[in-house]
Amino acid sequence: MTALDLARASAPDTATGPLRDALVQLRDAIDVLGYDEGTYAMLATPRREMTVSVPLRRDDGSITVVTGHRVQHNLSRGPAKGGLRYSPDVTLDEVRALAMWMTWKCALLDVPYGGAKGGVRIDPRAFSRPELERVTRRWTSEVMPILGPDQDIPAPDVGTDERTMAWIMDTFSVARGHTVLGVVTGKPLALGGSLGRASATSRGVVHVALAALRHRGIEPAGARAAVQGFGKVGRGAAVFLAEAGVRVTHVSDQYGAVAAATGLDIAALERHLDATGSVVGFAGGDAVPGAEVIEADVDLLVPAAIEGVITEENAARVRAQVVVEGANGPTTPEADRILEDAGRLVVPDILANAGGVIVSYFEWVQANQAYWWSAPEVELRLEERMLRGWERVLGHAEAHGLSLRRAATALAVSSVAEAHLLRGLHP
Ligand code: GLU
Repeated sequence: MTALDLARASAPDTATGPLRDALVQLRDAIDVLGYDEGTYAMLATPRREMTVSVPLRRDDGSITVVTGHRVQHNLSRGPAKGGLRYSPDVTLDEVRALAMWMTWKCALLDVPYGGAKGGVRIDPRAFSRPELERVTRRWTSEVMPILGPDQDIPAPDVGTDERTMAWIMDTFSVARGHTVLGVVTGKPLALGGSLGRASATSRGVVHVALAALRHRGIEPAGARAAVQGFGKVGRGAAVFLAEAGVRVTHVSDQYGAVAAATGLDIAALERHLDATGSVVGFAGGDAVPGAEVIEADVDLLVPAAIEGVITEENAARVRAQVVVEGANGPTTPEADRILEDAGRLVVPDILANAGGVIVSYFEWVQANQAYWWSAPEVELRLEERMLRGWERVLGHAEAHGLSLRRAATALAVSSVAEAHLLRGLHP
């Protein structure tokens, strides 16, 4: 039995999807580190969860009730931190997995937070802006007892944006009777947001992608890349890759994909997206099935959409030498093993997409001090942290013969476990 089989066998039978994947990764890290069952149990279980009903008055006067969650996976290293997702696919288990990954991400990059995630089971495209505002304000009111700049700090994720963060900040501040800038990050600049936050995840993805390509002996200028997802992460990643001279040959969104062997004109594709709402129909490329992007003949693949897109079923058809996870949890453990056996280099989500929470941390620091940094300052500090994280994970992987994911998860889990140990167990 391999370590992965063992890990799989001992993950709870009931967990499926992203939560099962996250628990398998945790089990594997616990085995790598030689930790005991009690430590696994502590880290497998969120410290605090809140599920709330969010009654929404629709624009036509009718009432719909949607479900919301906030999960605080770990609080040992500081306040809980993580995004808020609006999606029809949100489940409590998905939020639990995403919260756990936030804990590892913050620990790995030495950002002084625990991990959290929130979700509202709603398709934001099916609701008007005033309806989304009411949902946001009510969700905030319901989970307010566990939010706060020293307790738990939301940020944007799939389906939410800086406007959502402004509504959360306002709702929280009105309840407190004064403006509390540090309660959310990813805010608009005019409300205490940080320069460089909107592009931070994409920039971070590209910093490690370029380092990973070079590590594999592939010169980025002229290398070919496929980007799955053209939202908050994928769009910026495509832009910054193109700026670095990488030919982005495939791009997809939830509606379809476009490809051009010589490289897509990303600026023109952005204009097309802004005008039409999708990459589909872009005249500067050929329409291809969305699934083809994962299997494209490229050097670099950036899955930048949602969980579970590289699976046992399609992993063997991945042709990219380097996979950099812009999304959280895009690769299942089975796919991970197939990619590893095929000699692919997978830069795991908890490292690759950490740029967002790194600049969230900078935003919180700036808000708490009411002192604002310049864009170059933010970008330089982001790059330093990303590359330090990359070197640390790569060094650990090489020293111990581990994949980058196992090295990264083990480093993160050991930081959190050390914090637990030093604090001791109450009572
Ligand atoms: N939602 C982003 C993530 O998954 C950002 C979280 C944050 O900035 O707190 O990393």
